[in-house]
Amino acid sequence: MSNERAQPPQGSQQLVALPSLAIRSQFATAGIVIGVDIGGTNQTVAAARLDGEVITTRRRRLQPNGIAEDVVANVFEMIDEALDAAKRAQEHLGDERLLRVGVGFGGPVDQKHGCVITSHHVPGWDGYPLRATIEQKLDTQAVLDNDANAAALGEALFGAGRGVKNLLYVNVGTGIGAGIVLNGALYHGEHGVAGEIGHVTVMPGGPPCGCGKLGCLEALASGRSIGRRAREAAIADAAAGAALIELAGGEAAAIEGPHVFAAAAAGDALAQRLIEEPAQYLGLALAGAANLLDPGMIIVGGGLSDSGDLLFVPLRDAVRRHLLPSLPMPAVVPAEYGYNAGIIGALALAFDGL
Ligand SMILES: [Zn+2]
Repeated sequence: MSNERAQPPQGSQQLVALPSLAIRSQFATAGIVIGVDIGGTNQTVAAARLDGEVITTRRRRLQPNGIAEDVVANVFEMIDEALDAAKRAQEHLGDERLLRVGVGFGGPVDQKHGCVITSHHVPGWDGYPLRATIEQKLDTQAVLDNDANAAALGEALFGAGRGVKNLLYVNVGTGIGAGIVLNGALYHGEHGVAGEIGHVTVMPGGPPCGCGKLGCLEALASGRSIGRRAREAAIADAAAGAALIELAGGEAAAIEGPHVFAAAAAGDALAQRLIEEPAQYLGLALAGAANLLDPGMIIVGGGLSDSGDLLFVPLRDAVRRHLLPSLPMPAVVPAEYGYNAGIIGALALAFDGL
């Protein structure tokens, strides 16, 4: 479910904005919420008013060899700063209550118990009771989920999926993960692990996947697998791979998925060919999910979605081809939030159901 996203531009003060929202709270009429996005290297904190206005955003990078406790310390410092800024901004309104903290984590979490299961990037996270730690320290309610689910909710509440009750959000970055929104709420499944579309088999007996299976979608359509095929192609034919090699700093062996997405968007023929086949496999898996769930919309985020029509035209064709012909075709659209998907999703977790 969890995915790395493209790295944001660095800087401590990044601005994100939500579309202005009607106040959706049933109980609270004023106050603030905090969103916390914990990625592999970056942590982002944002404070927003209940009407959806983002008051302040902060982002920090984890120091090399940092561990979970360092991430938590960073997060609490940024929350303190964000609360100070929010209180100053809210003073004239006379209500600066912290209503809830939403936390999106870049790795598997036990959403029910509010614990991190593990991190593939930073040591010290195994079993970490992140929700209770935040609730005790800040004396408020917190919600913890993985970043793909958070991003799905963010797109559903504030992004491309506004007004759509049933939708599927798929992030195609280094890996492939998904979040499922049914009847306006995140669907977690019996064991909290719903959304593992990256490990749907789309080619029985196909290339090995990091999970140990063969022919998973992630082994055929993730940024990592596209990068691998691009390296092979550029090494085999340096002339055709010239644009990719240049983007990778002159080294064919250094080509990664994001170079392919960028070169394809800029019109490079090899990069465009390298996206066509993954689009077919992605369409196959998404049509399977659509046959099962009948979503009104499929939202595609992550680096691959930057390829625009190069991805979406063949992708929609593939979904249509594999969809039960009598089913209405769901809209297949790019996500609205790119770099900010994580923090918008974390705010969505905080806002949801207030
Ligand atoms: Zn797999």
